[in-house]
Amino acid sequence: MSLHPVRPKILGFISEEVSAWLVALLVLLAGGILTGLLAWTTLNQFHSQLRQRFQLLANERYSRIEERFQDQEQRLDGLRRFFANSESVSRAEFDGYTRPLLLRTQAYSFALRVSGAERAGFEQRMREEGLLTFSVRELNPRGELQLAAARDEYVVVIYSQTQSRLGSPLGYDLLAQPLRRSTLERADHLAGLAVSQPMHLVSIEPAYARGVLLVAPVIREGAAKSFGYVMAVISMRQLLADGLPDALHDYLSVRILDLSTNDQHEVLYESSNAPAPSDLSATQLVRMADHDYQVDIQPSDAFMQANHSSVGSVVILGALLSLLLAALLYVLVSQRQRALRMVELRTQELHEREQELRGTHGQLRGVLNAATQVAIIATDLRGVINTFNPGAEQMLGYRSSEVVGHMTLENLHFPRELISRASELSARYGKTIPTCQAMLVEGGEVGGHQAREWTLVRKDGSHLPVNMLATPVLDEQGLWVGHLAICIDITERKRVHEALAARDVLLKKLSAHVPGGIYQFKMEFDGHFSVIYASDGIREIYELDPDVLLLNAEAIFTRIHPQDTTRVRSSIRASAESLSPWREEYRVQLPERGLRWVRGEATPEELPGGGVLWHGYISDISDLKRVEEELRALSVTDALTGIHNRRYFQERLTTEMARVERGGGELSVIMLDIDHFKRINDQFGHAVGDRVLQAVCERIGHRLRRTDVFCRLGGEEFMVLCPDIDGDHAYMLAIELWQSLRSAPIDVVGVVTASFGIASWRPGEGADALLLRADSGVYAAKQGGRDRVEGQVV
Ligand code: GH3
Ligand code: MG
Ligand code: MG
Repeated sequence: MSLHPVRPKILGFISEEVSAWLVALLVLLAGGILTGLLAWTTLNQFHSQLRQRFQLLANERYSRIEERFQDQEQRLDGLRRFFANSESVSRAEFDGYTRPLLLRTQAYSFALRVSGAERAGFEQRMREEGLLTFSVRELNPRGELQLAAARDEYVVVIYSQTQSRLGSPLGYDLLAQPLRRSTLERADHLAGLAVSQPMHLVSIEPAYARGVLLVAPVIREGAAKSFGYVMAVISMRQLLADGLPDALHDYLSVRILDLSTNDQHEVLYESSNAPAPSDLSATQLVRMADHDYQVDIQPSDAFMQANHSSVGSVVILGALLSLLLAALLYVLVSQRQRALRMVELRTQELHEREQELRGTHGQLRGVLNAATQVAIIATDLRGVINTFNPGAEQMLGYRSSEVVGHMTLENLHFPRELISRASELSARYGKTIPTCQAMLVEGGEVGGHQAREWTLVRKDGSHLPVNMLATPVLDEQGLWVGHLAICIDITERKRVHEALAARDVLLKKLSAHVPGGIYQFKMEFDGHFSVIYASDGIREIYELDPDVLLLNAEAIFTRIHPQDTTRVRSSIRASAESLSPWREEYRVQLPERGLRWVRGEATPEELPGGGVLWHGYISDISDLKRVEEELRALSVTDALTGIHNRRYFQERLTTEMARVERGGGELSVIMLDIDHFKRINDQFGHAVGDRVLQAVCERIGHRLRRTDVFCRLGGEEFMVLCPDIDGDHAYMLAIELWQSLRSAPIDVVGVVTASFGIASWRPGEGADALLLRADSGVYAAKQGGRDRVEGQVV
C-alpha cells in the first residue's frame, strides 16, 4: 500500500507534483494580467479625470473671458449713460469718471460728431480749451496722423483716458478710417454697443496695439442721432492675459478667433504657451457686443506635467509585486516540496528500519528458540527473569511460564556456591556484595566479561555445572535495563576433562617405569618440527628438559652426532612421505654421559592440513650396541691368529670390487700358502703348528699398511687385499713379505717359507676370476719349487 494514497496539496490548491517554476510562472502571468488590467483601468480613470479637470479649467476660463467681455460692455455702457444723462461733460469729469475704469482696457475715449461746417469752429474751440495744437486728423497710408481732409462729417476724439505713454490721439477722425467708420455705423444702427474687427490701435504701445474698439453711440433723449461715441480701446492680450498665471504656469493654452471675417478668421489672441500634444480641447463662442468670438482652449505643457499619469508607477509596482509574489511562491512551493520529499524519505527509512527491526527481532527469537544447547536467561534490573529460552527449559527442567516473572537468577543457583562467591567478592572490594549479585559482579579477573563456572540447580534438585557469561543489557540510550546470562552445560566437558586428567596421570606413571622416553613429534607441512608430548624419560635420552623440547624441537638435533644428523633427518622425511614407521639408530653426544647410541621408533599419522604426527619411543641402546660390536668383531676375526677371517675377506672384497667397478681405480690381492706345513705339524705337533701360524701372521702383519686387509682364508692359506695398488706395487709388496718371512726364523721350527701368488684387478673382471688368478699364482709358485713369489699369471 502506498504511504501517500492522496497526494498532499501545497497551500490547499497546488498539487505537490507541480513544478515550483510553473507555479511561479503562472503567478507571474496572473500578476502581469492583473497589472495590465489595473494599468488599463487607471489609464482610463486618469483620462476621464484629466478630461474633467481640463473641462473644469476650460469652463472657468470661459466664464472669466465672458465676465471680462461683459465687464467691458457694462463699463462702456456706464460711460455712455454718463454722457447721455449730462448736459455737458467736461474733460475733467471725463477723466475723473474713466480713470478708475482703466483696468484691462487700454483707453476710454469720447468722440464728438462734428459736421464739416462746424470743423473750423470746433477746432478753434478746442484750442481755446487748452489743446493748442488741436486739429482734426486722420491716418495717412504710412499710419501717421495728419490733418484730415475736408469731409461732411467727422467723429473726432476729444476726450481720451489712456494707459499708453504714447499719449492720446486727440483730434483723430474715426470716420476717416473705414473699419472704425463701419463700427460706428453698426453702433448707430444697433443703437447700442458694437465692436470693431480686429485692428491696429492708434497711440497704443505696439505690444498691445492689436485689439478691438468697443463703441457705443451717445444719444440724448429725444434726439434721433447720436452726438458722439464713447469707446473702449481693448487690447485682447491685456484683456485676456491680465491677472492670469504666466505662460509657464498657465495650465491652458487659449486662442481667440474673430469670426467676423467670413473667409479668414483672424487669431485675435493666442497664449504664449504652446498647447501640449493632446486630444483634449474645448471650443466655445463668447459674445461681446455684436460679435461672436471663438475661444479655443487646449491644455498646456504645465497642465500635462501637473497631471501626469500614474500608470507607469502602477505597472512598475504591479510588476514588482508580481515578481515578489512569484518568488515568494516559488520559495514556498519548492521548500514545501523539499520538506514533503524529506518527510516521505524519512518515512520510507523509518519503514525500512521497522522492517529491519522486525526481521532482527524475528531472528533473535529464532536464535533464542534454536539454541537448544544453550540456556539464554535475561532478567530485569531487580533480577526477575523475563526471558527463558527453550535451551534453558531443556537444561533446567523448568517451563518458561513457571520462571518468567516468578523467579530470579539467584533462585537457579546453588546457594552455597553463591554465598562463597559473594563473600569472596565482598572481601576483594571491601563492601558487602549480596548473593543476588554475586553472579553478575566482575571478579576483577584479567580479561573482564569472563565466563565462569557455576552450579545451577534443576527443577528436580539435581545439579548442573554450567559455564555462564553474565553481561549487562543496555538500551539504546546506554541505560542499564537488565542482565543477560548465557549458560552452556559443561557436564560432559568436565567428565572428559577428568578422564583426560586421569589418563595423563596414568601415562605419567607408566612412562616413569619405562626405560627411554615416549613422545609425540610433529612435522608441519612446511617442514617445521615440534614436540607435542615428551615423557620424563626423554630427559635422560637427550639430557634435555621435556618442557624445553615442547618449545624448541630443534634442540634435539643439537644433541645428535653430526655424522648421524643428516641420516636422521632424511629418514624422518622418508617416513613422512611414505607414512611408513620410522626406525633409526643413531649416536647422541651428551654433555654429561658422552657418546651414546639410541634407537627411535615411531608410527606416523597424517594430519589434516598436511602435517605428520609421530607417536614414538626412544631408548638407549649403547650396551646393546657394544655387545653387537663385539659379536661382529668376533664373527670376522680368526680366533687362532687374531687377523680377519675368510668372511671378512669376502665382505671387503665385495665392497672393494663394487668401488672399482663403479669408479675405476686399482685393486690387488696377494695370496700365500705356507710351504710343507703338514711336515711341521707332523714333526713338532699341532700346537707348534698353531704357534707357527701365529708367528707367520705377526711377521706378515708388521709389513702391511693400515689400508691393507690381511685375512686367513683357512688352514695355512692367507690373503692380503690391497686397495689402490696396481700389479707392480703388489709384486713389490709380495717380495717384501716373502723376504721378511724367510729372513726371520721362528722359534722351534726355524725358517718357515711360503709361496706367493699375485693378481690385480682388470676392468670387467669378476671377484672369482681375480681370486682364481691369485690362486693360480700360488699354484705356479709351488710348482716352481716353493719359497717364491710368482708374478701375475696372464
Ligand atoms: P705344500 O703346501 O708345500 O704342498 O705342503 P703341505 O704340507 O703344506 O700340504 P697341505 O697343504 O696339503 O697340508 C696342509 C696341512 O696343514 C694339513 C693339515 O694337517 C695342516 N693344518 C691345517 N690346519 C691346521 C691347523 O690349524 N693347525 C695345525 N697345526 N695344522 C693344520
Ligand atoms: Mg695348503
Ligand atoms: Mg702348504
